[in-house]
Amino acid sequence: RSMTKDDEKVIPVRVALRCRPLVPKEVNEGCQCCLTFVPGEAQVIVGKDKAFTYDYVFDPTTEQEEVFDTAVLSLLTGLFKGYNATVLAYGQTGSGKTFSMGGTYTSAQEHDPSVGVIPRVINKIFEKKDNTMGFTVSYLEIYNEEILDLLCGSKDKPVISVREDPKEGIKILGLMEKVVCSATEMVGCLELGNSARTVGSTAMNSASSRSHAIFTVTVEQRRSADRSDTVVSKLHLVDLAGSERQKKTKAEGDRLREGISINRGLLSLGNVISALGDESKRGTFVPYRDSKLTRLLQDALGGNSHTLMIACVSPADSNMEETINTLRYADRAR
Ligand code: ADP
Ligand code: MG
Repeated sequence: RSMTKDDEKVIPVRVALRCRPLVPKEVNEGCQCCLTFVPGEAQVIVGKDKAFTYDYVFDPTTEQEEVFDTAVLSLLTGLFKGYNATVLAYGQTGSGKTFSMGGTYTSAQEHDPSVGVIPRVINKIFEKKDNTMGFTVSYLEIYNEEILDLLCGSKDKPVISVREDPKEGIKILGLMEKVVCSATEMVGCLELGNSARTVGSTAMNSASSRSHAIFTVTVEQRRSADRSDTVVSKLHLVDLAGSERQKKTKAEGDRLREGISINRGLLSLGNVISALGDESKRGTFVPYRDSKLTRLLQDALGGNSHTLMIACVSPADSNMEETINTLRYADRAR
């Protein structure tokens, strides 16, 4: 459907830059902060004078609640109006992607103000739930261009494939879709999937994740008693693989192969998002098919979907090179 009212104009991609505080390790190593934030401006300055502007800039003092309320909440409003939405956390390993998304959440943190996007989304969704709505959840990982189901505990995992249905759009065949009726059940899916995530070790971060993780909530809203008018919308919450280049991680063998396919996802995501954000390219070819990541997210990137990219960076001067890479990638996305 096309939007007419100005206040509902779909802005396909918004970019939030989020800088975490120096972590104790960086402080101990004597790292200095290489980023400056201008109060009241959505701007970050690298070194002396290299400035970048985004839709939102969150400095190291910004709390999780503020990130959620400022940048994520409007996507949920859209979701309940029937629009698909995607939140992507991008950045080098250790920059705060999993922290921002809430990808290590456990129910023991229920009242912890430091929890990230996913548990907050779950709470909000169940605040809005009424008896015309139904929810399903899936949780998958893309690793070496292969899709793994994080909710499927069994040893004989079904082969998962992606199809494009002319009516229903992108379908992921063989993927578990759990019907959930409460926040507790949805949190259960999140915890189950988090514990199943593939982690590999690199010289940069012993628990760095080399995969993209996608937590998807599907909302079905009945608008008539006989289900003849049902609106379906999807929200993808994505913790992307580390964006760092491989030389820094002394990658070899398997690690290197992972690195190459991870870069393929991030590279094509960058191409897709920059094609969407560029008015002059409107209506031209968008290269969704270049990676599993963009293929899976195809229905929820562009069109009448809302996307938020949270570009995560470290403030430490020792990470300046990767930080600049992230600032540039995020700049292209606007
Ligand atoms: P990534 O998922 O990008 O590899 P993490 O989310 O694991 O990075 O963050 C690395 C470390 O920094 C973790 O110890 C995390 O708790 C901490 N951290 C990240 N962002 C913040 C933040 N905004 N405030 C406080 N600590 C943070
Ligand atoms: Mg992580």
